[in-house]
Amino acid sequence: MVDLTDRVRQLNRGEENRRARYILYWMQVYKRPRYNHALCFAIRAANERRLPLVVYEGLKYNYPWANDRLHTFILQGVNENRREFQRLGIRYVFYLQKNERDPRDTVARLAEEAALLVTDDFPCFIIPEHNRRIAARVRIPVFAVDSNGLVPLSAFAKEEYAARTIRPKIKRLLPRYFVPFREEKVAVEDPHLRVNCPEETVFEDGEIGALVARCAIDHNVAPSPVYRGGRRAGLARLQHFVEKILPRYHEQRTHPEVDGTSRLSSYLHFGYLSAQEIAEAVQAADAPQQAKETYLEELIVRRELAYNFTRFNPRYASLEALPDWAKRTLRAHDGDPRPTIISPAQIEEAQTYDELWNATQRELLWTGEIHNYVRMLWGKKVIEWRPTHDEAFHLLEHLNNKYALDGRDPNSYAGILWCFGKHDRPWGPERPIFGLVRYMSSRSMSRKFAAQAYIEWTESLAQ
Ligand SMILES: Cc1cc2nc3c(=O)[nH]c(=O)nc-3n(C[C@H](O)[C@H](O)[C@H](O)COP(=O)(O)OP(=O)(O)OC[C@H]3O[C@@H](n4cnc5c(N)ncnc54)[C@H](O)[C@@H]3O)c2cc1C
Repeated sequence: MVDLTDRVRQLNRGEENRRARYILYWMQVYKRPRYNHALCFAIRAANERRLPLVVYEGLKYNYPWANDRLHTFILQGVNENRREFQRLGIRYVFYLQKNERDPRDTVARLAEEAALLVTDDFPCFIIPEHNRRIAARVRIPVFAVDSNGLVPLSAFAKEEYAARTIRPKIKRLLPRYFVPFREEKVAVEDPHLRVNCPEETVFEDGEIGALVARCAIDHNVAPSPVYRGGRRAGLARLQHFVEKILPRYHEQRTHPEVDGTSRLSSYLHFGYLSAQEIAEAVQAADAPQQAKETYLEELIVRRELAYNFTRFNPRYASLEALPDWAKRTLRAHDGDPRPTIISPAQIEEAQTYDELWNATQRELLWTGEIHNYVRMLWGKKVIEWRPTHDEAFHLLEHLNNKYALDGRDPNSYAGILWCFGKHDRPWGPERPIFGLVRYMSSRSMSRKFAAQAYIEWTESLAQ
């Protein structure tokens, strides 16, 4: 049985509804029927009370940066989740709120006939506020369950300073938490239970475009032609990764011109895959130990550092979250003259003088992701091109969250702030604009891999 003790938080003092018809799991983040701690907790609650389980997934039109790309990636996962939950005897409800005239408050409505409400605990974006509001609104107990990583967020008492401080702690805790995941099974199957909630049934891929077109969202960001949403697509990419890419991951991960990294971050972000099942697949793979260790350092240490950061630092969406040395040095250099100011529109449209940088932005615009290695350069250059550090930060946040499928995530904020010194250390010599924050140049980076091939590949995407 999976140990959930350190992963569950009760968010209110609600009283259980003894005349309830079901247990409700509001699946906001971790959109998967397996390796899901919140689902496990909900199934146990249902079985203890001999009640069926309702899994509710909602997609509204008005979350920040809602656009065709993000909506499509989510809708592509709905049908297969519906089928899988049905097979497991669980009632799955999906509701698409297309505009302000459509019914709202569906979770509260469903909660009226539920004994208790279970939802995902996610330390970032709109989820903490959703959870605060629903816990205050409903009368039943609300539980937030942490399916974020291999080690529960509650295993740490405070914000960790850097990878070097969290790494030994994670190493010590992993044997306790990284244990086989035993799935739970519902005792009372009722996949067609009647519920008081509007529903959308997304049957085939062909219908998704028309559905998205009817939503009051930003229609200027096209669906990704490269990344398809859903657990099945995520599992297929995982299999390709462990068989074909992982054996050379440690050598090729700094080569954006080849398919040399996992490209699984969007599947992790939307919860189609869990970090644990990826880690298990990597451990079981036929690949050199060095490749596995290099990858697991990223997936576990770097990723869980980012989650720890947004859980414990309420100012994660600002430069206020930087360490003191970075704040000091940036403050001293914020007024430095910028040799070239580039407008947000030119930056967004990949129309700068820097061809390598334009390539990173094109990759983001056209695919919904940027290769791990050049993503650092993508962030660093914008610091040079905007009149203040604050403007650079907010433009990066906007572009990352608007175009990246894996955006709006703890990794987004840790990654962008890393460009300003977060989780890093001071580097000399002191430079204009950056002060002691690590500097990166396109010239030196382009010598480290076949930059021209990467540039040409991103040009071909735009055609
Ligand atoms: C400016 C900037 C913005 C970023 N924005 C995001 C974002 O919006 N969403 C996002 O998931 N990552 C972000 N990152 C971190 C990293 O670049 C991506 O996780 C990585 O590019 C995803 O590609 P991949 O799945 O092929 O990674 P791989 O190289 O295969 O790495 C495996 C996994 O490890 C994790 N990981 C890798 N690098 C990091 C890192 N530096 N910090 C935290 N976790 C990491 C990811 O979950 C990733 O999927 C950002 C980094 C920078 C510098």
